[in-house]
Amino acid sequence: MSAAPRLDALNTLGVAATADRLVVVESERALQGLLREAADQRGGLVVLGGGSNVVLKRHVPGTVAIIRTRGTHIVPGRGGRVNVSVAAGESWHGLVRFTIGQGLYGLENLALIPGSVGAAPLQNIGAYGVELADRLISLRAMEVASGAVREFHREECGFAYRDSRFKSADAGRFIILDVTLALSREAQPVIDYPELRLELQRLGGSRISPVLVAEAVVRVRRRKLPDPRRVGNAGSFFKNPVVSAPKAEGLRAAVPGLVEHFQSDGRVKLSAAQLIDRAGFKARAAGKVGVWPRQPLVLINRDGASGADVLAFGQSIRAEVQRLYGVSLELEPQVYGVD
Ligand code: FAD
Ligand code: NAP
Repeated sequence: MSAAPRLDALNTLGVAATADRLVVVESERALQGLLREAADQRGGLVVLGGGSNVVLKRHVPGTVAIIRTRGTHIVPGRGGRVNVSVAAGESWHGLVRFTIGQGLYGLENLALIPGSVGAAPLQNIGAYGVELADRLISLRAMEVASGAVREFHREECGFAYRDSRFKSADAGRFIILDVTLALSREAQPVIDYPELRLELQRLGGSRISPVLVAEAVVRVRRRKLPDPRRVGNAGSFFKNPVVSAPKAEGLRAAVPGLVEHFQSDGRVKLSAAQLIDRAGFKARAAGKVGVWPRQPLVLINRDGASGADVLAFGQSIRAEVQRLYGVSLELEPQVYGVD
């Protein structure tokens, strides 16, 4: 009997895991065929792009499908607007670089986010004040149960803060095939985030341009975040908690200098990194797992950690932040497999 295929190099946390079956999907037709086969087999179907937002336990039963479809199409519109349709298997950062190279603006704040285009709608990827929902017109997705292809317009995607219907209500029901984005030949920089603003000043360009914004984003990220090729991680391990205004007010005494971002619905977004830091985790590591000192929201695989080790450390952080501050941290990556 042949050994179970390994997923170690297919998740950026770098944890050891196997699957019953591993398939690389390069076309929609192949995906349809795979769905028919998977329906007859035991275990489920797990789709992966770059594996940068998952925690894998020891074994993933069933089929793991790596989406590697390719293709980018530009459709000029009116008034400097340009639509770009991109296949799910393309690299997200590759797309950002491509669009900037074409003189198209809109994705510059989302530079250097790892992973695939097809996973981007799942958690409505966001950074430095821009999220995918700000740019997405529509996407096409294949229903796992039937193989039928369906189009979803932005307002049908259930986008919210690091969330969508594809991650919550309809989790596992659809495989995203491609996305269509609205970009522009006219620059409209979004530079509210303090670190981004500071970096732009350092770069000292005579005129703020999206090319410059992307360059600043890449520099800040390289300084602050671990490179998954060197240090195993899945980006932010928790979402930033959004709490009621009275709850935030109550926390001000417990957390001097509480970071508060006021939302349009009256609630307040807190910094999970600050709470984790104040709870004492910055200097703490549980053997194989630790927090990244320059960004405590990122958990790192220090040395041969398993998915279970990472989840257990994450759970200890959750419990302590809950005990100290009464704030419930929600896991951001998706968890698959069994131990
Ligand atoms: P995977 O990890 O392969 O999959 C994630 C989820 O999407 C899984 O549930 C999977 O089943 C599903 N999925 C994948 N492809 C498809 C598809 N075609 N159709 C349906 N479902 C699919 N995220 C942010 O939002 N902002 C950031 O700034 C950010 N920075 C990061 C920095 C680092 C260093 C790292 C490691 C991660 C960061 N992330 C960030 C998280 C991650 O990069 C994104 O969520 C990214 O979109 C995940 O893409 P992926 O292809 O690796 O997804
Ligand atoms: P940061 O700039 O130090 O900011 C800390 C937190 O405060 C951020 O998480 C951000 O929330 C929030 N924030 C800062 N300025 C804000 C403003 N003007 N308005 C509203 N909210 C504001 O954060 P960072 O850790 O270096 O990350 C920079 C950006 O990259 C953030 O947008 C972050 O979400 C993103 N990022 C995401 C991941 C991931 O895996 N999901 C990993 C690394 C970086 P938001 O998170 O809501 O933006």
